[in-house]
Amino acid sequence: MADPAVEALIDALRCLPGVGQKSAQRMAFHLLQHDRPGAEKLALALQGAVADIGHCERCHTFSRAAVCDLCSDPARDQTLLCVVETPADQAALERTGSYKGLYFVLMGRLSPLDGIGVRDIGISALLQRAADGVVKEVILATNFNVEGETTAHVLGEALKQRGLKVTRLARGVPVGSELEYVDLGTIAHAFMDRR
Ligand code: ZN
Repeated sequence: MADPAVEALIDALRCLPGVGQKSAQRMAFHLLQHDRPGAEKLALALQGAVADIGHCERCHTFSRAAVCDLCSDPARDQTLLCVVETPADQAALERTGSYKGLYFVLMGRLSPLDGIGVRDIGISALLQRAADGVVKEVILATNFNVEGETTAHVLGEALKQRGLKVTRLARGVPVGSELEYVDLGTIAHAFMDRR
């Protein structure tokens, strides 16, 4: 029977996606046996991030401030709003340097099989954001797999109903692919060629 503190650590590690009892146990023993400094660093980083990081009220990405740096940058084109699934996808698009507008980060995608519906991906927040009177074009840059295409379709219909111009990143990005892993040139091209 392990010490209650060890049991509590194993139990806490199980909140990570894909981590079951065995891997949690392995991680806990590794940290306690081989990497005390790493364990301390992890504890502090977790505590700091949970205490300080919230969501940007304009684009919903992770942010320390109420409005993130990108949304507060006056040099960005306020008339373009690009919708992505995750902060990682946003970072991939930013690395291309080919887009100068603003973003809306869904923090997920529609996945009816997993019980993730329109409410869960903040569709009403997006509709409200896009209808601010300044945004002229909404670019749907969800991933090119089944869930991403479904998400783009549902969002596109809802946005068009409100009279907004909606475009989708062009093909050229391979079918089924996650933006995060597509090369920069391909994404840059898809931006210019959107329709
Ligand atoms: Zn923001």
